[in-house]
Amino acid sequence: MRDIQMVDLKSQYQKIKPEVNERIQSVIDSAAFINGPEVKRFQKELEQYLQVKHVIPCGNGTDALQVALMALGLKPGDEVITTTFTFVATAEVIALLGLKPVLVDVDYESYLINTDELEAAVTPQTKAIIPVHLFGQCANMEEIKKLADQHDLFIVEDAAQSIGASYHFTSGEARQSGTIGHFGCTSFFPSKNLGCYGDGGALFTNDDQLAEKARMVVNHGMKVRYYHDEIGVNSRLDSIQAVVLSAKLKHLNDYGNARRAAAWQYDQAFSEIEAIQTPKRMINSCHVFHQYTMRVTNGERDALQKHLTEAGVPAMIYYPVPLHQQKAYRDDRYADGAFPVAEQLAKEVISLPMHTELDQEQLTYITSKVKEFFKS
Ligand SMILES: *Cc1c(COP(=O)(O)O)cnc(C)c1O
Repeated sequence: MRDIQMVDLKSQYQKIKPEVNERIQSVIDSAAFINGPEVKRFQKELEQYLQVKHVIPCGNGTDALQVALMALGLKPGDEVITTTFTFVATAEVIALLGLKPVLVDVDYESYLINTDELEAAVTPQTKAIIPVHLFGQCANMEEIKKLADQHDLFIVEDAAQSIGASYHFTSGEARQSGTIGHFGCTSFFPSKNLGCYGDGGALFTNDDQLAEKARMVVNHGMKVRYYHDEIGVNSRLDSIQAVVLSAKLKHLNDYGNARRAAAWQYDQAFSEIEAIQTPKRMINSCHVFHQYTMRVTNGERDALQKHLTEAGVPAMIYYPVPLHQQKAYRDDRYADGAFPVAEQLAKEVISLPMHTELDQEQLTYITSKVKEFFKS
């Protein structure tokens, strides 16, 4: 059996190696490393795939979030609502820009922002909401959009973990994750569902003016070369990453299918284990399983992780500490106990190996090791 990894990028590469190698070589031959035609080409391909008017490539997913907030013209003191149960980048950019992060708890079963608690977090200073499509499943965009429309708020979707997931409104309209809000932001970090071989990211928007603004922000606040209208940043996707992404985009739907198939096997295998709650599927969203994150409800989560690790099965805790309990984000507004669901999840969640190359032998081995733990 091949070694089991959380993410197996080497095996995935083997299947696309000739195309990737040839295209990387041709970038090197052309020496068009930055802002070359390959970046534009990938941008167009992704716009097509997502059915969105504008893709703005940038340096990484964190930058994408920061650029979105800058392009929306948010000012220090403006409040931005997001979830306490997410990767730190979401709140980091809010704080970095001098905006005020306002946190909300998540739903126990879906791990997604609790829309019932969202409205209470809105104040006259609130300017934007950043829903996070955590682990590959879309937040309740229908409710979020309703609330944002009511209070005239911007929506910036953190789609770093959800590229390729579609969201279905009750009207029947379907949209790709990240193309519903004023901006959607994604990351092409290698282990993400569409990952490059270094750092990369992008913003999505259907708004021409916001797109123009974001293109300026990523390029030092300039439209005309060496004339700077605004304070911007330097954030770009390079051509080598663009060709890797272009090669992998063709397989993104198959990659999603492979992840869902592995998730389904996990679901089946653990359905009889009382102490395991497998991840809930939301009816409005398809799930692209950036992570397969389940809950261990009998207090044995850490022991399970140890058991698996010793058996050669890596398992990770996403995330061990909610944002409001992180040293850097401690705030008098949020004492321990402020967000009980996120705090409980931090103690119960565990993520199993999830990638596009899990074979039957590996899946059988992983599930047998989990079952073995709960039998003894
Ligand atoms: C990965 C990730 C980011 C940041 O992406 P980088 O490319 O690593 O900067 C932001 N938000 C979430 C939810 C992520 O998972």
